[in-house]
Amino acid sequence: MVTRVISATGGPTGPDVEVVVVGAGFAGLYLLYRLRRLGFSTKVIESADDVGGTWYWNRYPGARCDVESIDYSYSFDPELEKEWQWSERYATQPEILRYLGHVADKHDLRRDIQFCTRVEAAHWDGDAALWRVRTDRGDEIRCRFYVMASGCLSLPKTPDIAGADRFKGESYYTGRWPHEPVDFSGKRVAVIGTGSSAIQAIPIIAQQAAELTVFQRTPNFSRPAKNGPVSAAKKAGFDANPRAYREAAKLSASGIPRELPLMRALQVSAAERLAKYEEAYQSGDLLAMSATFADIGANPEANETVCEFLRGKIRSIVRDPETAEALCPKNHFYGTKRPCLDTNYYETFNLPHVHLVDLRKDPIRTITEVGIDTASHSFEFDAIVFATGFDAMTGAIVAVDVKGREGVALAAKWADGPKTYLGLMTSGFPNFFTITGPGSPSVLSNMVVSIEQHVDWLSACLVYMRDEHLTTVEPTPVAEAGWVQHVNDFADITLFPRANSWYMGANVPGKARVFLPYIGGVDRYRKACDEAVRSGYLGFAFDGPGGARCNDGVIRRVQPDVAIVLELMQQFGVPALDTLSVAEARALTVAMAAQRPPGPQVGEVVDGRLPGAAGPLTYRVYRPAGAGPHPIVVYFHGGGWVLGGHDSDDPFCRDLCVRSGAIIVSVDYRHAPESRFPAAVDDGFAAVRWIAANAAALGGRPGQLAVCGWSAGGNIAAVVCQMARDAGGPRIVGQVLVTPVTDCDFTRESYVANGEGYGLTASLIRWFWDHYADPADRPHPKASPLRAADLSNLPPALVVTCEFDPLRDEGAAYAAALAEAGVEARHLACRGQMHTSLPSVDVILSAAAARAEIGTALRRFFGRSAPPAVES
Ligand code: FAD
Ligand code: NAP
Repeated sequence: MVTRVISATGGPTGPDVEVVVVGAGFAGLYLLYRLRRLGFSTKVIESADDVGGTWYWNRYPGARCDVESIDYSYSFDPELEKEWQWSERYATQPEILRYLGHVADKHDLRRDIQFCTRVEAAHWDGDAALWRVRTDRGDEIRCRFYVMASGCLSLPKTPDIAGADRFKGESYYTGRWPHEPVDFSGKRVAVIGTGSSAIQAIPIIAQQAAELTVFQRTPNFSRPAKNGPVSAAKKAGFDANPRAYREAAKLSASGIPRELPLMRALQVSAAERLAKYEEAYQSGDLLAMSATFADIGANPEANETVCEFLRGKIRSIVRDPETAEALCPKNHFYGTKRPCLDTNYYETFNLPHVHLVDLRKDPIRTITEVGIDTASHSFEFDAIVFATGFDAMTGAIVAVDVKGREGVALAAKWADGPKTYLGLMTSGFPNFFTITGPGSPSVLSNMVVSIEQHVDWLSACLVYMRDEHLTTVEPTPVAEAGWVQHVNDFADITLFPRANSWYMGANVPGKARVFLPYIGGVDRYRKACDEAVRSGYLGFAFDGPGGARCNDGVIRRVQPDVAIVLELMQQFGVPALDTLSVAEARALTVAMAAQRPPGPQVGEVVDGRLPGAAGPLTYRVYRPAGAGPHPIVVYFHGGGWVLGGHDSDDPFCRDLCVRSGAIIVSVDYRHAPESRFPAAVDDGFAAVRWIAANAAALGGRPGQLAVCGWSAGGNIAAVVCQMARDAGGPRIVGQVLVTPVTDCDFTRESYVANGEGYGLTASLIRWFWDHYADPADRPHPKASPLRAADLSNLPPALVVTCEFDPLRDEGAAYAAALAEAGVEARHLACRGQMHTSLPSVDVILSAAAARAEIGTALRRFFGRSAPPAVES
């Protein structure tokens, strides 16, 4: 008979309790409520003497939430939603603490919480398959599951200012504020820091203090909170259907229902932009500014327009121009350090007894017994308020001596940055969970929504294990590495990694510089968690009497921006091109091209005509900004020999021009089905001959000519190189084949694996071939260059392939065949990209590195450095 593994407690080797939870904030309280209802014995350990977490500790003047209280509240108890009415749009700390106390009372939670107890160590006992949790009271508790609901912003940063412990006056930490009232009346007060806590506290402290001096290292972006009673509209929106409202929050990007913008900031006029910013500014909504345009978080120029708008506001409020300028953030993009909401923050600097010290100009030398010495001044104070922040996201977790399998310390495993699967678990630490841990949306979201999602996921996992008679769960190294990669990939297409923020661990000296939360959004993240479960707990390994099981794998392999583009195409119902007539497909391609970002500025763009194989062809020349002559790259656009033209690949040509420093001559060619095989390649070759002969007239450097093409254009470029070799010229110094068609074999693995779901489908490729070439012609090397009998003596090549492209394997095969034939051929395999990624300039940002490599390869072809080694 199989025993109920998880419910077994007590006994010499069994657990004392099934689950130990660290922390009694929003997360610990809900976890206790949920696990208890599911029948798991649970003990919460909390170092404070009561519930509340953040809202227990942060009692500084002015402390309140900056996500509206209607949103920043539990959804699990509909009754609670009716019985608890928030008195303000942004509730104060005492009110939120009362709310959490009320939840604890209502559900009788305190009886399972051990207060005034700090967890010091948690060691995995592999033999007994349980955790041994040790506290500062000397107890050891054995539990099957160990959950850290210990908070992302719960461990105040150790002061990293010389002399911090020398001060003989009153010292206060915003994150450890005393319970007794603090009265600053008549006192000289210093505040160090200008993050969210300081920005809330400063205006209130200024009302009491005789003198207030603010020590600012980095100015922050703050906007008026416009606090007041909960707005009737907001309340009505919620009350109309609370369940639907909560559901919308769960499926939103930030945990707060909101429409996401599609428009880019620089797509509209300056006046329209400013009107949007003004509306966001006046809304008092924390996230409104980032939600004005789609590219605020990713595009430096777009972001700068927000920064400048907000600097204008600061300058208009603060009367002293020098102080105003010092308060203007200039060293980080808007949103990359957490923005703030305030009440009269900037106005406070107009008061005669409030002073600002800009530590960038006059850094703190030391704290003294009587005050603070900067490089140029000695200040005396009665009180110093340290609003210096937290060791965020990982601090409280690694403050506990957590040891997993083989006694490996979590702190050691995470020394170079936290590694988690889905922000929930870390490999080598069975049955160990973190709530809102690193690698989850966490601090980038309305945290209550993220907390509830984690608790619900974890609870369901424990129920699954109980039902399946499983004792242990842990993520696999493969799944974890894949998720860490995905988290970094997402961060890297945003501006976040550029800032010295606590999101990056940059506020704590010596901490690894890694983007800690997951920026993909609550909605996308929830989908990943749910999908993992639906795929048989993909990436989790279970063991127990029910049998060992593991469906190993990576949950997100596609680059994040590729996924977003695919989602948008689906959302807008973009039809499959092969279901359209050629005319319709061309019209759709033109319409879609018109929506894209334009690509970078180049020196000059000129259209012209050249003689093709059977009549004139148009070309478009992109010249670099500097004085010529320049090398020339003849470029062939994509579109399956059927679609496309100069406009379709215009941003890519601009990008190539800027990155390579070469003139790009984009050549049109006759299209199928009107002109079938071999019209396109014959035109391509004719164009290359003409351009080589007229290089000087085009501003080019004679003898320095390369070819490049994307997709079917890559096919043309490859074939043209073979034709030029066979014809004895013109001399081509290099070829860049971007996701090229090189063969007519539709059975390769990538056709099968990537034949659907990644933009270019296997069936669309067939449609292109059908329009272009008869089956009998397709194996001809002028259609399938991979089939050429001789691939030697061809120009050096860079062949770019994309992981999620049906054409991937034939591109790779061509690179390998060239190398085999002795050609200097490099294969650049782009992880997580799809067929259209490379030409999607300023849309698929994650492909920018590959575009840069193309530029480098072209420069090398032109002799600016040695040709690269073969690589795949
Ligand atoms: P916490 O509330 O931090 O609770 C963790 C608890 O764990 C603490 O009580 C701590 O004492 C305990 N603990 C930690 N380690 C140990 C240990 N080793 N042994 C025993 N006990 C331990 N988020 C928003 O979404 N919107 C907001 O408006 C917002 N405002 C905020 C304002 C402030 C001032 C701060 C600091 C944070 C704010 N946050 C906000 C983030 C906030 O932290 C979360 O919203 C939420 O309160 C976190 O709840 P939690 O239960 O996960 O962690
Ligand atoms: P924070 O944002 O990290 O701000 C800390 C401030 O102290 C920064 O200005 C920092 O400057 C400064 N500082 C740190 N070390 C310093 C040093 N050695 N010398 C001089 N200055 C130093 O911390 P926080 O204000 O406590 O806020 C943390 C997070 O909690 C927020 O981002 C937010 O998520 C949450 N929070 C929310 C609210 C709310 O409104 N609901 C309120 C408070 C907190 P640098 O920037 O140069 O490091």
